Amino acid sequence: MSLTDAYDPENIFARIIRGEAPCYRIYEDDDVLAFLDLYPQSFGHTLVIPRRSAACNLLDVDTDALCKVMVVVQRLARAIVDELQPDGVQVAQFNGAAAGQTVFHIHVHIVPRYAGQDMRVHAAQQGDRGELEQLQARLVRRIAAGA
Ligand code: 5GP
Repeated sequence: MSLTDAYDPENIFARIIRGEAPCYRIYEDDDVLAFLDLYPQSFGHTLVIPRRSAACNLLDVDTDALCKVMVVVQRLARAIVDELQPDGVQVAQFNGAAAGQTVFHIHVHIVPRYAGQDMRVHAAQQGDRGELEQLQARLVRRIAAGA
């Protein structure tokens, strides 16, 4: 998909927002939704998306929605670091297929990084469902505790 193609309301994140597809949700408010990546590149890989913005990427998202997403990205990165104690945390965002984007509803990746561990291949192997459920519960508790 190019940078200028129209938004497809049937993309998987739009379906997750509408409740038509499941996700391991860790945070939501009126404007922002965050859930675990189903194909995690590391333990704790999280995606943060605007709920109300039909935007494909950074270029077409409205500034207000983007700001709300980034505030949540910071809050969740702090909570993830507190809970999982990674050695680093990568925040990434891709625009257009040529840049590695595979889902065309704007999103930000939070990828905890652990010293000595390479990232797993992008969108390649589905995470273990039991592990994702446990991780979801841990992060929901941590976020609720106000991290
Ligand atoms: P992108 O490549 O567009 O920056 O990232 C899209 C991300 O969405 C990938 O990391 C991929 O693993 C993840 N993903 C793809 N399909 C699903 C899904 O159905 N549920 C969840 N939670 N993540 C998905």
